[in-house]
This record gives sequence, structure tokens and C-alpha cells, in this order.
Amino acid sequence: MKLKTENLILSKDNIISNFSIDDIGDDHMYTGLETPMKSDAFVMSDIEKKEKISNLFAQIMDVMGLDLTDDSLKGTPNRVAKMYIEEIFSGLNPDNKPKIALFENKYQYNQMLVEKNITFYSNCEHHFVPIIGQAHIAYVSSGKVIGLSKLNRIVQYYAKRPQVQERLTNQIAMDLKAILHTEDIAVIIDAKHLCVSSRGVKDDTSATVTAYYGGVFNEPHKIAELQNYLKQ
Ligand SMILES: [Zn+2]
Repeated sequence: MKLKTENLILSKDNIISNFSIDDIGDDHMYTGLETPMKSDAFVMSDIEKKEKISNLFAQIMDVMGLDLTDDSLKGTPNRVAKMYIEEIFSGLNPDNKPKIALFENKYQYNQMLVEKNITFYSNCEHHFVPIIGQAHIAYVSSGKVIGLSKLNRIVQYYAKRPQVQERLTNQIAMDLKAILHTEDIAVIIDAKHLCVSSRGVKDDTSATVTAYYGGVFNEPHKIAELQNYLKQ
């Protein structure tokens, strides 16, 4: 039986209410800009979380019939728990957000700056399998500049969550807008979803491209200029 999803949405007008939970997962729709988190998400410490995830993951393996006394498997629940909390889902915790310092734009550089081919690894929130891709970021300074490595770190922070590509794109863009005090931000993400290639429709060649264009990047000549840099 397919469950209806009225409880997932804020607005009854939201088009997503017409779809079932299964449809939402299979078609990778998403329900909002913010990652859906419980209000008590950080009551438990990371140590408690790892212990709990390890126990629960051991149960999943046990249900599947795997022998957890085997030397190769017995460390897996702990490894998965550690990986979830410290690595691939560490971006859920705001404490792990990169500290960003801004600098004066001393060079008076007022053209677009493009940081391209930022490789990231994320995970699809509908299937918990990898999304592997590259992000390209551009901005025009409003008087402040940001260290180039910080652009990379912001991408990695939002990628290290269960994600949907559209949300990842917009979360990076909104954060950069706030940090750099400008609307003139572009974020383009080109990624492969293993839930599409390794399972489901098993399409190994398709890729998904999403983009956010703010401020001057809505002007056709700016989009053309940006795309020209990305081709080089
Ligand atoms: Zn998926």
C-alpha cells in the first residue's frame, strides 16, 4: 500500500502532496531547502550516536543473515557508525560547519571569480548510496573575498549529509549569498547518482546537472561567460 504524504509538507498547495512516499524516493523529489531534521537532533552526543548506530547496524546485518562473529564482519557495525557520524554525514552537525573568514578585496578585482571542478562525494537521502560529482562556483565580489579553499569546504560541508542534488545546490548558494553579502552567486553541480546507475533503472551513462543563478548571473551574457570558463 502506498502512503500519502500530507504529513511531509508544509503547504497543501505544494505539488509534492500529489505523490506517494515511493514516488518521491524514486523520482528524487525533495520537500524543502532545509535538510529535514528533528528538533532534538543534537541532544545525543556523537559518542552515544555512534554506539547506537553500531548496535542498529549490527541488527540489520543480523537480519540479513550475516555472521557477525566472522572476523571480516565483526568490526563493520562500528566502522559504519564512525563513518556516518565523523565522515559522510558529518555535515548534519552545525558544529562541523567550516569557519569562514572574509578579506578585503584589495586587488579591486570586480569580475566574476570561478572555482570549478570541486569534486565531492555525497549520499542520496532516498537510497543512502553515493552521489559523486563536481561543483562549480562563481561569484562577483561585493567588496569582500573569501579564501578559495573555503569555497571547496562549503561544498564538502553540505555534501556530507543525506542529500538531494537540488537541495545541495541551493544550500551552497544560500550560504554563499549570506557569507559574501551578495546576490551575485552561481552554483552548478554535475553529478552521477549511484541509485540510478547501480540499481533502479540501471542507467550508467546519465548525469544530473542543477544550477542556481543569482543576481548578475541571470543576465544571458554572464551565463555565457561562465559557461565559457567551465568549458576551458
Ligand atoms: Zn536515490
